[in-house]
Amino acid sequence: MSDTPKTLVRRTPWPASSSRAVVTPLQPSVVYASASPDALDDQYEGRAKGYTYAREGHPNADVLATKIDALEGAKGGFILGSGMAAVTAAMLGVLKAGDHVVGGDQLYGRSMRMMGTELPRFGVETTLADPTDAAAIEAAIRPETRMILIEVVSNPTLRVADLDGIAKIANARGILLAVDNTFTTPRGVRPFEHGADIVIHSVTKLLAGHSDVTLGYVAAKDPAVREQMLGTSVTLGLTPSPFDCWLAERGLYSFELRYDRAEQNAAALADHIAGLPGVKRVLYPLRNDHPDHNRAVSLLNGRGGAMVTFEIEGGRAQTNALVQAAQNIAFAPTLGDIGTTLSHPATSSHRALTPERRAALGLGEGVFRVSVGVEPVELLAQEFEAAIAASQRA
Ligand SMILES: *Cc1c(COP(=O)(O)O)cnc(C)c1O
Repeated sequence: MSDTPKTLVRRTPWPASSSRAVVTPLQPSVVYASASPDALDDQYEGRAKGYTYAREGHPNADVLATKIDALEGAKGGFILGSGMAAVTAAMLGVLKAGDHVVGGDQLYGRSMRMMGTELPRFGVETTLADPTDAAAIEAAIRPETRMILIEVVSNPTLRVADLDGIAKIANARGILLAVDNTFTTPRGVRPFEHGADIVIHSVTKLLAGHSDVTLGYVAAKDPAVREQMLGTSVTLGLTPSPFDCWLAERGLYSFELRYDRAEQNAAALADHIAGLPGVKRVLYPLRNDHPDHNRAVSLLNGRGGAMVTFEIEGGRAQTNALVQAAQNIAFAPTLGDIGTTLSHPATSSHRALTPERRAALGLGEGVFRVSVGVEPVELLAQEFEAAIAASQRA
């Protein structure tokens, strides 16, 4: 029998230190002890600050949220377990049966599912419309419309929404405008400055930037809307993990550096790819041949972002050959990683669409979307050139 000290199960006090850690501490505690029932009363009634139970909030989430608030020019944003949890918080926190939602017609795939499958189950009707055309969004509005959900730059065609036009319509009618700013990031546009009521992020993508956390963020202009979303999130358990928040906060330190470098790379890569044999077209918002070039220049302050879409000649044999030849570029259905990744909408993000709908969006077999990373651009140019050449030999 070992002679275990009887105090083993007691928590050991944190060692005293006259110096302090530079790095944000990681606090995985699920529970927080209070001094007394009076102290707990003070906390629940908002007279004192403090944590009680991690599903209700924890310091690592708050540190991260404060940082994203500063980027977005927001107040009181909070962190959720995924980008879709943030979409859920915005929708279920605000909507009730009988309400109607207008959504952009090229939303993120799971947001589409939210509009098409989940919300209708709860008696919320939805309509999709083209967000590059404010009149089309306006035409979809009904007396019961409570919310409009759009993304500023669509995936993967990189169409730029008429954010100002839609905000004017939404604001005038008292409809909440929710903007999923994942793709564009506050480096490209800050939706609250353009009349948005709710801003949503998949922190998983460019903000965290290293493909090692799944997190979301949501903020509202109106504190009452914020309280509704937060209350619903805590009840539904959309809570983020402290460790994920800690990693994402670390990722954010380099967000602006990563973003600017990736964006420069993307602009150069788009021009390089456009000149290669076997390339049918290249989509990049700042190129003169992009359908929303002028809006990208004005709304996005001349920032084109880190995504490039291109289409090659040929069918599946050519697309298979391209991916196999691009050995150093991860073929993976995500975006925003520090390294360049490649996705093929026809077999991933847009596979649920009918071939006719894909064709209408211009998403044939030959279309790839590149999430450009921070590698030396010469390397990327070389690798894409070789992979595209290999595809045309297939
Ligand atoms: C990835 C993504 C989401 C969902 O985020 P998760 O963190 O994967 O849940 C929502 N919107 C957009 C635009 C995205 O790219």
